[in-house]
Amino acid sequence: MTPRTAVVVGGGIGGLTAAGALARQGWQVRLRERQPEIRAVGAGIYLWDNGLFALESIGALAEAVEGAHKAPEMEMRTRSGRTLVRVKINGAGQPRCVTPPRTQLMKALVNAATAAGVEIVTDSPVHAVRPDGDVHLDHGQIESADLVVVADGVHSRLRDSVDLAYTRTRMSQGGARIMIPRSAHYLSAADGHKHLESFHGSRRLLCTPCTPRDLYLAFTCDSDDPGIDGSHIDVAEWTRSFPAFAKVLAATEGVPMIRWDTYEHVRLCSWSRGRVAFIGDAAHAQPPYLGQGGGTAMTNAIALATAVSRPTASLFDALAGWECRTRPGIERTQNTSYRMRLLNRVPDVVRDPLIRLAGLLPSTANSQLAATRIRPNLTTDDEDAK
Ligand SMILES: Cc1cc2nc3c(=O)[nH]c(=O)nc-3n(C[C@H](O)[C@H](O)[C@H](O)COP(=O)(O)OP(=O)(O)OC[C@H]3O[C@@H](n4cnc5c(N)ncnc54)[C@H](O)[C@@H]3O)c2cc1C
Repeated sequence: MTPRTAVVVGGGIGGLTAAGALARQGWQVRLRERQPEIRAVGAGIYLWDNGLFALESIGALAEAVEGAHKAPEMEMRTRSGRTLVRVKINGAGQPRCVTPPRTQLMKALVNAATAAGVEIVTDSPVHAVRPDGDVHLDHGQIESADLVVVADGVHSRLRDSVDLAYTRTRMSQGGARIMIPRSAHYLSAADGHKHLESFHGSRRLLCTPCTPRDLYLAFTCDSDDPGIDGSHIDVAEWTRSFPAFAKVLAATEGVPMIRWDTYEHVRLCSWSRGRVAFIGDAAHAQPPYLGQGGGTAMTNAIALATAVSRPTASLFDALAGWECRTRPGIERTQNTSYRMRLLNRVPDVVRDPLIRLAGLLPSTANSQLAATRIRPNLTTDDEDAK
């Protein structure tokens, strides 16, 4: 039987996962990336249970997490360093969370996709897609596929080419990321292994060991915050906000930030139109308070590949079933993440006791951790009906 064909647009976390998962299900897959090479943007990345499961199911897990840090705990602290909430992770029965460098994750995704037979074409911008499966390339060239998966990121232009209605909310906050060498001198021996998160006013600082050599720092603040100065963070400003991190912050002096991203929330009226399906930030971008944009992109890619690979269903029924089963869970995660932006909007005297209280109420902590455990729903309509 001739294999069904798929074109995947975008060589980010979502597109590469979808391409690998489809190829493993027997599809003939071509991935088109507009950049001259597949690149990782960002420093480190939190991979929770759902992302780890997705990586495992496409054979990319071992390479993605090799040598990556597995913290014993994550803590939210006051700006002066007092612990408000402590969550144990990576032990038996506890949530899993691994924080590799993004470059390592991307390399593993490329290798897994290539091993599964995906043809990766770089320097290949897609200009438009059509519900009938046509993909418009440079010089008026058109290729057709049984399925087109669009994972072209939060600034997606292809959403417009199929006339999908959507809401895109640009937030006043954004994030800068920096990677510095790890050192035993920055924090106490125990703290040096933990994920530490602190808020002060409209600022949030996240300090994450990535590998034995690398420490990943993420700075959230308003776009017009004086603490972000062009391509650098203002060390004195951030040290005033977070004195307990003075040594870590001093080490960022002169280190250029990897980039600034304004946070966004995207909601499509529908995740598919005809033969075209949207996943990742193009479909459900969210601010990174839960570290779940990549996790949900991968989870949704696996669910999509599973749904459309059933031999009995029509593609259109499969896409409708996929969205119906997967969308509620992903939107819960997305909306929780979006609500968490309010943590950057309240004064410390209100926020710190609230965080402490939330940590004491298992239901609150559990509902946030539950978001990181949602796995792709791999059941089908037939199985649902049983
Ligand atoms: C500060 C910050 C921290 C984050 N931390 C985490 C975290 O810890 N854990 C987590 O899970 N998530 C995190 N995220 C979210 C995560 O980075 C994104 O959700 C994820 O990268 C989205 O992947 P994607 O494949 O949908 O899009 P992208 O990664 O944006 O990939 C889109 C790709 O499509 C290509 N493209 C675009 N247009 C075209 C076109 N027309 N033709 C061909 N190619 C095209 C682009 O070049 C790009 O390679 C964070 C985000 C931010 C901003």
